[in-house]
Amino acid sequence: MCSACDAARLLAASELRATPRRLRVLQAVLDAEEALAPPALLAALRREAPMDKVTLYRCLEALHHAGLIQRHDAGDGSVRYCAGGPGHPEHHHFHCLRCRRLLCLEPGTVRVGVDLPGVVHVDVRLEGVCPACAS
Ligand SMILES: [Zn+2]
Ligand SMILES: [Zn+2]
Repeated sequence: MCSACDAARLLAASELRATPRRLRVLQAVLDAEEALAPPALLAALRREAPMDKVTLYRCLEALHHAGLIQRHDAGDGSVRYCAGGPGHPEHHHFHCLRCRRLLCLEPGTVRVGVDLPGVVHVDVRLEGVCPACAS
């Protein structure tokens, strides 16, 4: 499924009103193969059409609250967003200590056994040097 259809479907099935701006922001997050910080998302969105910074932050907040995207602390004080919600399985992340990208790992790359009751979500952040920086 293309990301535009995917974004439209996810938004339509959510509690949120499907505004064109939310759709654009959700699609930009789904299009990325890594978890992006708001400035990077803003740059990507502005390559297509104007986007206001405050609007972007509001959309990200709403989409996150509705469970359509995930928010991650990259470990360097910045926040990154990537695909989440229905049809997007839980996955973990690799933080590159050189380029600071937060790469989304294929689901199943990291298996965590948790021997603790009450846990509903596990979010693992690996740190190291990504393939692009290592070569
Ligand atoms: Zn890197
Ligand atoms: Zn991710």
